[in-house]
Amino acid sequence: EDILVPQYLTQSADQFPDHTALIFQGYQVSFKELNDMVGKFAAGLKDFGIQKGDSVAILLPNVIPCVVAYYAILRIGGIVVFNNPLYSDRELEHQFTDSKSKFLITLDLLVERMVTLREKTDIKTIVYTSIGDYLPFVKRLLFPLVAKKKGLAKDVSPAPDLHAFKDIMAKYSPDTTQADLTFDDVAMYQYTGGTTGVSKGVVLTHGNISCQIQQIETWFPEFDKGAEIMLGALPFFHVFGMSVSMNLAIRLAWANVLVPKPQAEPLLEAISKFKVTFAPLVPTMYIGILDHPDLEHTDLTSIKGCFSGSAPLPVEVINKFEKKTGSIIVEGFGLTESSPVTHVNPFRGRRKVGSIGVPLPDTECRIVDLEDPAKEMPAGEPGELLMRGPQIMKGYLNKPEETAKTLTKEGFLCTGDVAKMDEDGYFYIVDRIKDMIISGGYNVYPRDIDEVLYEHPKIVEACAVGIPHAKRGESIKAFVVLKQGQTLTEKEVIDYCAERLARYKLPVAVEFREELPKSNVGKILRKDLRKQQEEV
Ligand code: ATP
Repeated sequence: EDILVPQYLTQSADQFPDHTALIFQGYQVSFKELNDMVGKFAAGLKDFGIQKGDSVAILLPNVIPCVVAYYAILRIGGIVVFNNPLYSDRELEHQFTDSKSKFLITLDLLVERMVTLREKTDIKTIVYTSIGDYLPFVKRLLFPLVAKKKGLAKDVSPAPDLHAFKDIMAKYSPDTTQADLTFDDVAMYQYTGGTTGVSKGVVLTHGNISCQIQQIETWFPEFDKGAEIMLGALPFFHVFGMSVSMNLAIRLAWANVLVPKPQAEPLLEAISKFKVTFAPLVPTMYIGILDHPDLEHTDLTSIKGCFSGSAPLPVEVINKFEKKTGSIIVEGFGLTESSPVTHVNPFRGRRKVGSIGVPLPDTECRIVDLEDPAKEMPAGEPGELLMRGPQIMKGYLNKPEETAKTLTKEGFLCTGDVAKMDEDGYFYIVDRIKDMIISGGYNVYPRDIDEVLYEHPKIVEACAVGIPHAKRGESIKAFVVLKQGQTLTEKEVIDYCAERLARYKLPVAVEFREELPKSNVGKILRKDLRKQQEEV
């Protein structure tokens, strides 16, 4: 269907005006109210001089104004630039200047820093909101008492071109005009997670993000419009949360329960309190839930389906989670460059645990030789995964050379991932090319070692990396987080691996950590551990 993402909201507001669209700490916004808020923000943006093609930065966790701003920017034809609120000034300055953002919406907590930072960028106007702006009545009354102590709010000193979100909601009438746009117009500059290097601005068009939702929608035909409760825990500033949680819920007129801090405790609370039925999460979130003492006495039986992506989901985690909750996790796959989803396991059909499933409709895949990309690999043989489809990006912002390296002339995206396909057409991610360890001439995929470590009953998180070795080139070191109250020695871990892995894949060293470094969406950052080793 030739429908733009902001029009999904208009449709849902027409069809289900009184259905709940967003729930934040118990505060509820209906589809009609959300559509009106978007219209007011759209009117405000226009009044501040934002025009079609201008970049507008959002620096917010999952709060109601984040959804409002996103839809308003797209409605007026602006370009959304999402940013992680935990980023440093240096990282933000890069994203603001690279995208030439002119306007910023953020939290009161960050205003002081952003007023200083904007001097180095093209940002003129800043709008801020507070966590306390949209809370149920009693919580709103109590908010000032606890907010400052807990670091949830900050007083904002007046500054030029600085406005409160609530004042915009009070001042403007809803503008429902949809800017004249086609599927080829740019909708977003979406920065990659930076798991393997510097974060790049991915140019996504309206066609990319709209087709993506329609592709995902076909995957869950048994879920009715207006009938489900989505978990809004994946950050919307990351492409996975944006598409699979925020946009999908708006398209299907589902209520979305916003969880700005996606840690195990608030996740368990949100699922049980609001009877969540559909929960997209990343592997570290499933692991966190499984390891939390509250799991035993929390009712998660409302969940009908879970979706995992963005990093490998250890088979052991799927088994344990499904046993405890009685729900199904379907694993999928994607990249920022593909809006993001390209593969998913069938929800009701044949699911293969450990596989990323089959390509979404209209997604073509190739697996090519790592040395010779012109050669396609037969079923069962690993090679680089290439993909083409309506959700594939236009290119990288300001990086023509990177774009030329990543998109082939025929429009295939080179993923940088090693994958294989089985006889039934199911795909398996072996590992990232960049993470491959070459030890004594053998290619070792660290994921093989991680999988074995995750099976150990005392281990909660694991990550293997290559470390320099005088004779073998590289050898393997494993970083391990133990479950609370458990102990293990380095030798016990290596002996455990020795029973399950070929000799050349064995870690030569094990380091125990309290936690492992993670990216903005909760991916374990192998590159950071590798870098720490190099520095050692
Ligand atoms: P950067 O590209 O900047 O290094 P990033 O990799 O975190 O950051 P994303 O676009 O979020 O950026 O991640 C895409 C990558 O995530 C894929 O190329 C793949 O390596 C990995 N990935 C996604 N889903 C899965 C999955 N189900 N199994 C294994 N790996 C996955």
